[in-house]
Amino acid sequence: MPPTVSMPNSMPPRLKGAYWEAARCLRCCDPPCNQGCPAGIDVARFIRQLSKGDVSGAADTIERDNPFGLICGWICPSEVLCQKDCTARKLGRAIDIRSLQRFAIEENRRAGSSNRFLTRPQLAEQRIVVEGQVKREAPTNVAASSGLVAVIGSGPAGLTCGLILVRLGYRVELWEKTDTIGGRLSHGIPSFRLDSAVLRSELEILASPLIIHRSRAFGMELGLDDLRRQGCQAVFLATGKWRENIPEIPGNQLIGVSTADQILTQEDWKSAGVKSAAVVGAGNAAMDVARSLLAEGVEMVHVLYRRTPKELTSWDEEREEAWQAGVIFHLLCLPVALEGDSAGRVRSIVCARTAPGPLDSSGRRSFRAVEGYSFELPVEMVVYALGYGTDCASLESQGIWVDEEGFVRVNEDLATNVDGVFAGGDLIGKGRGTVVQAVADGKRAALSIHQYLSRERRQGE
Ligand SMILES: Cc1cc2nc3c(=O)[nH]c(=O)nc-3n(C[C@H](O)[C@H](O)[C@H](O)COP(=O)(O)OP(=O)(O)OC[C@H]3O[C@@H](n4cnc5c(N)ncnc54)[C@H](O)[C@@H]3O)c2cc1C
Ligand code: SF4
Repeated sequence: MPPTVSMPNSMPPRLKGAYWEAARCLRCCDPPCNQGCPAGIDVARFIRQLSKGDVSGAADTIERDNPFGLICGWICPSEVLCQKDCTARKLGRAIDIRSLQRFAIEENRRAGSSNRFLTRPQLAEQRIVVEGQVKREAPTNVAASSGLVAVIGSGPAGLTCGLILVRLGYRVELWEKTDTIGGRLSHGIPSFRLDSAVLRSELEILASPLIIHRSRAFGMELGLDDLRRQGCQAVFLATGKWRENIPEIPGNQLIGVSTADQILTQEDWKSAGVKSAAVVGAGNAAMDVARSLLAEGVEMVHVLYRRTPKELTSWDEEREEAWQAGVIFHLLCLPVALEGDSAGRVRSIVCARTAPGPLDSSGRRSFRAVEGYSFELPVEMVVYALGYGTDCASLESQGIWVDEEGFVRVNEDLATNVDGVFAGGDLIGKGRGTVVQAVADGKRAALSIHQYLSRERRQGE
């Protein structure tokens, strides 16, 4: 039975909705929601605090373990993480944890408090969830921490790692390839899902304790030897996944062929006055592209996917929103050619019909083209949104091991094969692909680097 609650009379009306939602929580003994948060937020605790009207305590509980708590409150796929096994679902509906998280921090900001991760007097014991198990770590030897650590990449993994190390007493210098910090948050996630003003102000606060070198790419002009010469005692690599997968199809050279990143991060396509477009792929990036196209006035947006609905990789919520916005889905079809007009512009996309085949190595049903069945869809634009891979050539050339899928190989402490070099976030692959997991990796790497440097110091004494 849900606990009996009494709502404080003094509670402002906007708080009451959140209060009622929090009050539905069953206060489970061994809460599945806690095991579902990779960053280790004590979800059950912050909901309990919220149900008692303790908004500031709730924000503190969230931000002590996730400096990106507010951003995750906007875009975390909570349906597949903390809310997935919520016990309240058995009584009808899971607790809306993501909205409560966003609400608690927004209310706290409204009351004038800044990010609690940065303003707490001490770095709290950090919790991380590894394979469904909550692990707690209270960093020791903090008083003796000193030295310089390099972080490569300013996405959520790099920023989180840098922030924790600064709080532990290290000097951190961060190198970022572009002139904008935030990684995929700033270059990819559209503003209809994550408000740009909120993002800008959060990134500004989170980057404030770090020394950041913008427009400086690791690999070409800066290598591990250069960092060591500059006195860096450890390095955290968090450069993400940025190489777009593009199929080789006749017609790719036509005007009007783009990639997901060109749509999500560049402005120049907007003036083109396009009325119909095909998006190839059906993952989350494809959903963001399709909705961005509609938002910019493209009237007909088709999503083309070669497998069955069961194999779709986009999150249910993203897909549902794309569908509600008017995106037209075509499943079991494979683009085979693009046709152009006399001016060299895309006129249509030709697709073969496909049929499901046996399970492939990813555990999903494969597909095969059905001979003799194809169709032509008239469109003025084609966008490839088939996911991303890493670009590890420069890391490999410096001796860092990369697996056959192109991800940097790490052990459970996120250490690479090179002494003092750690890696995390999207760059290490398997099970990544969310901001909250990048935050979790940033935390884990910072604590491992602290242990590594403490050990080195003891050995040097
Ligand atoms: C379109 C899109 C939508 C998404 N939507 C969501 C969502 O709704 N919810 C969610 O949780 N996740 C979402 N994600 C995934 C999420 O954004 C990533 O998993 C997360 O940002 C990974 O963090 P990261 O720090 O590992 O890498 P990134 O965020 O990719 O950051 C890496 C940083 O390293 C920099 N860099 C790269 N190479 C170098 C170099 N050689 N030298 C220096 N710097 C370099 C890059 O410029 C970048 O700033 C989305 C991703 C995309 C592409
Ligand atoms: S699993 Fe759901 S019901 Fe149980 S403590 Fe967590 S939020 Fe509350």
